[in-house]
Amino acid sequence: MKPGLKSQPKFAPLLAFGAHPDDIEFGCGGIIAREAQLGRPIHFVICSQGEAGTYGTPKQRIAESKKAAKILGATIEFIKLDGDAHLEIRAAHALKLAQILRHTLPGIVLAPSVVENQHPGHCRLGNLVRDAARLARFGGVKELRRLPSHAIDQLFFYAVTPEAEPRDISPVLFDISAPEIISAWTAAMSAHQSQVKARNYIELQLTRARLLGARAGLGHAIALFLIDPLVLASLAQSGRSARRF
Ligand SMILES: [Zn+2]
Repeated sequence: MKPGLKSQPKFAPLLAFGAHPDDIEFGCGGIIAREAQLGRPIHFVICSQGEAGTYGTPKQRIAESKKAAKILGATIEFIKLDGDAHLEIRAAHALKLAQILRHTLPGIVLAPSVVENQHPGHCRLGNLVRDAARLARFGGVKELRRLPSHAIDQLFFYAVTPEAEPRDISPVLFDISAPEIISAWTAAMSAHQSQVKARNYIELQLTRARLLGARAGLGHAIALFLIDPLVLASLAQSGRSARRF
């Protein structure tokens, strides 16, 4: 969503970053479906065309992403950083992402976890988004002066695979059990036909969500991770523990 487009005043926009065309859908698509259902405006920023992948051409992968974003109720854009499998952590990239934050004005930002595992592009993008969130609110960055500074409310990290889940942080679990949410999430993952032909990634993600859900007394859940302290106005906002004491 761009400034000027009508957004529901009830929720600030959610901006989700993916290193590859399918990262957001597989990592946290159920949460996206749920937030869209509640009326939150959602925008995806994809930082490569997945051109280094074994399966699927960039053209196919872009088409698959657009289809998946539509299913989940999100708008989508593709940007170029260093290209798939070549992403490096550089100030210029963080500034480019900060510029996007100032333009789209999100309240919530989602990025791949900074755990160094699986694809190196995931954790490097996570680091770049974390840096961008800080730069977006600094008043004196000359490259960003074209737009007013913007402070997001919250940066959550998602884990594309179980290996990318931080081991030393308690996850925040999101209930995605509603049948219409599971079905939108499954359909969005299935839109990535070039990827799901190779391995049963959909079953892997659904099984992860079932296991997390079972631990918390829910049908399905997806974990997000915070690396900064969470601020609550009162204990009324504290939800409940996964452990049912
Ligand atoms: Zn990926």
